[in-house]
Amino acid sequence: MTQTFFGQINPPARLLMGPGPVNAHPRVLRAMAADMLGQFDPEMTDYMNQTMELYRQVFMTNNRWTLLVDGTARAGIEAALVSLVEPGMKLLIVRAGRFGLLLSEIAQRIGAEIVTLDLPWGEVASLAQIEDAIVAHRPHVLACIHGDTSTTMAQPLDGVGALCRKYDVLSYVDTTATLGGMEVATDRWGVDVVSGGLQKCMGGPPGSAPITISDRAAEHIFARRHVEAGIRGSDTTDGTRVRIPSNYFDLAMVMDYWSEKRLNHHTEATTMLYGAREAARVVLEEGLQARFARHAAASHAVCAGLRAMGLELFGGDEHRMTNVTGVYIPKGIDGEKVRGRMREDFEIEIGSAFGPLQGKIWRIGAMGYNAEKHKVLLTMGALETVLRHEGHGLTAGAGVDAALAAYND
Ligand SMILES: *Cc1c(COP(=O)(O)O)cnc(C)c1O
Repeated sequence: MTQTFFGQINPPARLLMGPGPVNAHPRVLRAMAADMLGQFDPEMTDYMNQTMELYRQVFMTNNRWTLLVDGTARAGIEAALVSLVEPGMKLLIVRAGRFGLLLSEIAQRIGAEIVTLDLPWGEVASLAQIEDAIVAHRPHVLACIHGDTSTTMAQPLDGVGALCRKYDVLSYVDTTATLGGMEVATDRWGVDVVSGGLQKCMGGPPGSAPITISDRAAEHIFARRHVEAGIRGSDTTDGTRVRIPSNYFDLAMVMDYWSEKRLNHHTEATTMLYGAREAARVVLEEGLQARFARHAAASHAVCAGLRAMGLELFGGDEHRMTNVTGVYIPKGIDGEKVRGRMREDFEIEIGSAFGPLQGKIWRIGAMGYNAEKHKVLLTMGALETVLRHEGHGLTAGAGVDAALAAYND
């Protein structure tokens, strides 16, 4: 057999201005270069406890159970659903984009009875619509997405927790795309389980899913825990609840591991923990409100720049996410060719789209470490140059000028 060698990893210094992943903050990458520790080393368990404390602040919650699920954001989603939802339980999913569909796909595998509140892509549900759906279906659990990057719209969540408690419904929210960039007010929303990821506004790499769990959700999940007869994780159950049908994503076991009991489960992904901890430190040092304002300023400038290029934005301004913007590809322009030239000539990546929006819009993100004035201006300048060369009529410099003016406002 011939031996094959490849060169060392040496990716181009590309500016990632799409819907994620985005460039990680250098401090996060440096933290990830630190040496390993044994998983029950006191230094390691201290880092775990500190990470819990940091993410309580990031999630704006007092939830004791605030920890990391190892894996990408989807691992957090799957852990939440598989641990909360029992086969046959009724789950109401608010679906207004691709990630709402992902929730139903996961719930189907669990064997949940799925009912949905479906909205056209680009719309969000009103509190009244959510209440009507709860009254009509009387679900055990409600699941929804906060910011769905596929549509660039953010679902308002104030009042949803109170509504769920009124009808005795547990709630889950996916905040992967918004955590660290838009307000994720877990306790004010009053929702039970909230999960996120690192590779969007948290300014880290994909591979860790911070999650927070209310006491009442934890109680429900612990009630599904295996009876400790013989080997932990054996087939015995407490007879009232169906055991969580995943070992890796069994949040009862994961919580036991993160608790003072330190019951062995997986090996905490040391390097990802270092990265997640540093990402939270960077976020909290900047301050949540300052960080939300920085994302909003970038979004404002992106919107102004795109409009000044004569482009039409996707969706209404009222519920627009402040970290990713959908914009229609103008008639007669090849969207993929524009993305190719952005990448090849300017080392800038912007996003395409999925489902009903595929080939219709681009998605331009300004998230985390990339929600910076100079990065927004570079992106606007590059895009308008490419568009001009592709035959879209615009005044050279209009987009950058408008974005700059929005920043200087
Ligand atoms: C990006 C995104 C995810 C991604 O999950 P990964 O497993 O990290 O790829 C999940 N949910 C939402 C809302 C997202 O925007």
